[in-house]
Amino acid sequence: MSATALGERPPEDADALALSELPDRARLRAAARERRLGAWGTTVTFSPKVFLPITNLCRDRCSYCTFRRDPGAPGAHTMAPEEITDVLARGHALGCTEALLCLGDRPETAFPAYRRTLAGFGQQSTVDYLVWASQAALAAGLFPHTNAGLLSSDELLRLRPSNPSLGLMLESTSERLCEAGMPHHRAPDKRPARRLAMIEDAGKLRIPFSTGILCGLGETPRERAEALLAIRRLHCAYGHIQEVIVQPFRPHPGTPMQAVPGITDQALLDVIALARVVLPDDVSVQSPPNLVDPESVVALVDAGANDLGGISPLTPDFINPRHPWPHTGTLAAALARAGATLRPRLPIYDAFLARPGFVDPALQASITHARRRMDETARPAAAQPEVHA
Ligand code: SF4
Repeated sequence: MSATALGERPPEDADALALSELPDRARLRAAARERRLGAWGTTVTFSPKVFLPITNLCRDRCSYCTFRRDPGAPGAHTMAPEEITDVLARGHALGCTEALLCLGDRPETAFPAYRRTLAGFGQQSTVDYLVWASQAALAAGLFPHTNAGLLSSDELLRLRPSNPSLGLMLESTSERLCEAGMPHHRAPDKRPARRLAMIEDAGKLRIPFSTGILCGLGETPRERAEALLAIRRLHCAYGHIQEVIVQPFRPHPGTPMQAVPGITDQALLDVIALARVVLPDDVSVQSPPNLVDPESVVALVDAGANDLGGISPLTPDFINPRHPWPHTGTLAAALARAGATLRPRLPIYDAFLARPGFVDPALQASITHARRRMDETARPAAAQPEVHA
């Protein structure tokens, strides 16, 4: 490893790979902490959101997923338009600024019953419905952020005028995880090349983009570094990655991976530190606070995270339903004791507001207005009304 591997700048690829197996974890974490403080200061952000699981029907079968259903199975559900508008209105009343539209992958290609449901709503396709839901979010005073799995370039283009940012978890670049008996074997939409291609398409379209890695599926430390480097390459080419989520896999009862322990909190902190060191400073490192012990939340920040992602006062984490979000007041108090300030943000990061071409003209005025209002009313989250999952 070269002398500059843990310096003020992201390391070369070979050094980044070596860092993933560095025995001196304390040194890595200390370097990540310095990089976070230098780039993001003592501010830690979160996005006040509502989570709308537009449909939990999905054509894939990831071994760890507790979200997906087949049509007619217990718990299978596609949100009706009036459910969507109801959640949006209640979220706006509680001060939310993000509407996360989340769903399974390409359900209309697998399920005729779902196509009939869409037709009953007057929609021809999932993307038609997402465009409608995104416009409904804007009308309710929230900004949509859609994570719909794999989308074509044309579909991204259709969502761009209403979504200030879009997202797709890369999860991993390991082809090994797609082999027989591995978590992504029955999930054609999780092939790394397809996901990287969509993230690249978003870059070509200048869409501020959220992605991330899922840790604890059976990947190696080196494979995690390879995924981070793949994201870095795309950001260096297109400048569009606004945040990288470092998310721990947590096992869910009733899934094929229910007995897999996942990643320890300590190992997760090492991946966060690696992400902060490997990624350019302008890419936010996010880790969700509901997937670690409450005492570990400050440690997420200490290891290099500067963002805690979406936190909802209204809706649960439908992907990890056994892990409620902590109260923002509690988080803010814990972070304040550690010298950090928790503040809300929009689903598009501030840096992108100044980058030419990244904000669709249809959204410019409303984002500028919302950002100004957020500044005017900005108070540390501890002083805001308590929110609860
Ligand atoms: S993780 Fe996503 S793509 Fe995989 S089965 Fe669940 S909903 Fe489908």
